[in-house]
Amino acid sequence: MSAVNCPYCKNKVDIEYDGDYGREEGTSYTQECEHCKNIFVYTTDIVYYHTAYIAPCQNGKKHSFKSIICCPPELGEGIYRCEWCDAVEIDQEVHKKAVKRYLERMEVGE
Ligand SMILES: [Zn+2]
Ligand SMILES: [Zn+2]
Repeated sequence: MSAVNCPYCKNKVDIEYDGDYGREEGTSYTQECEHCKNIFVYTTDIVYYHTAYIAPCQNGKKHSFKSIICCPPELGEGIYRCEWCDAVEIDQEVHKKAVKRYLERMEVGE
């Protein structure tokens, strides 16, 4: 919920989102001021928040690949993701073997 100042009476008005109404950037929406009952137009600016992390692999160091956790675990075997930049590396040999093992396990389970 965010508020604007009514362009007529300058009072604070909470923007009332109705589903997607009011949420699209670059579109004009209308709302009635609860104070002076004039209808005003407002637009929406979507603000992006970012969080920054260190990434040694982007500064000359090697990626720090970690095994990913999958369910079932076999499907994650041989797949590694860099803990810093999210780059993915797949060891095809290991992965294929693990998937094969998984499929065999499924067959046995039947
Ligand atoms: Zn007003
Ligand atoms: Zn990386």
